[in-house]
Amino acid sequence: MNHPYLEAVDSSVPALTASHISKSFRERDEDTRQWRPVPAVSDISLTVPRGEILGILGPNGSGKSTLIRLMATLLMPDEGSVSVFGYDVQQHRLKVRRLINRVSVEASFFKKLTAEENLAYATGLYGVPNRQAQVQARDILHRLGLPARKLKVPLEQLSRGQQQKVAIARALLTSPTLMLLDEPTTGLDPKSRREVQQFVLEVRATHDATIVICTHDMAEAERLCDRIAIMSRGRFEALGTPRELKNQYGRTLEDVFFALIGEPLDEEVPVES
Ligand code: ADP
Ligand code: MG
Repeated sequence: MNHPYLEAVDSSVPALTASHISKSFRERDEDTRQWRPVPAVSDISLTVPRGEILGILGPNGSGKSTLIRLMATLLMPDEGSVSVFGYDVQQHRLKVRRLINRVSVEASFFKKLTAEENLAYATGLYGVPNRQAQVQARDILHRLGLPARKLKVPLEQLSRGQQQKVAIARALLTSPTLMLLDEPTTGLDPKSRREVQQFVLEVRATHDATIVICTHDMAEAERLCDRIAIMSRGRFEALGTPRELKNQYGRTLEDVFFALIGEPLDEEVPVES
């Protein structure tokens, strides 16, 4: 699928470049009542070539979502810069927003509206003609295993897993040139998880898509990702192909993670059907 903004971009320009980005939040100390900085992302540099699936694997609180939000123009870095297809996110925020799609666990939806209405709204914003969008939406949700009758029900009546599928469908509908997936399969049952993973691979193969995906799931990272960054305390401890990481740090990805972080990955949030 061609994207109007991408026609002018040289295909050798990376999908994403981050140069020495840092971001801190401020938190109030309960005792002293003083504000203190909480570093979330510290001096990360990274280049993601077009067509790559990059995984970010790290424990809770390691800064994965903050990094994704910096890439998505939802947060501005304190230091450093981010470019998407060569466009600086601070100078070309609107252009960048049309080239990316973010799916996160706390997907923002109109919960009283149905899946179909939410998708129509999203695609309306992006200028896709509505009939075409509806047909595409149904097709995508069907491929994701969401029954057609669920399209007509207010989102608040769907399970978290089903809402997640709608969020992914929405991202796929709007020409996902750079897809930022923040734990897209967390909370899904194993079958839905496989379906979503399969779909991510399919999107990369059929669209000109580049994908950055945060995950808790090592098997998922290994199955989907060309390269994996292991993140801890706001930094990348390592970045490489699964094979490179295993050659250097251990026999399995679990071993690699343990060798670099010194603790296993956290428990999953409970699965919901
Ligand atoms: P992850 O997605 O890996 O779990 P996050 O990026 O959500 O990590 O969080 C990284 C750190 O930044 C944590 O210490 C978290 O508490 C803090 N943090 C994230 N967002 C905010 C915010 N809006 N305000 C204050 N602190 C935040
Ligand atoms: Mg997170």
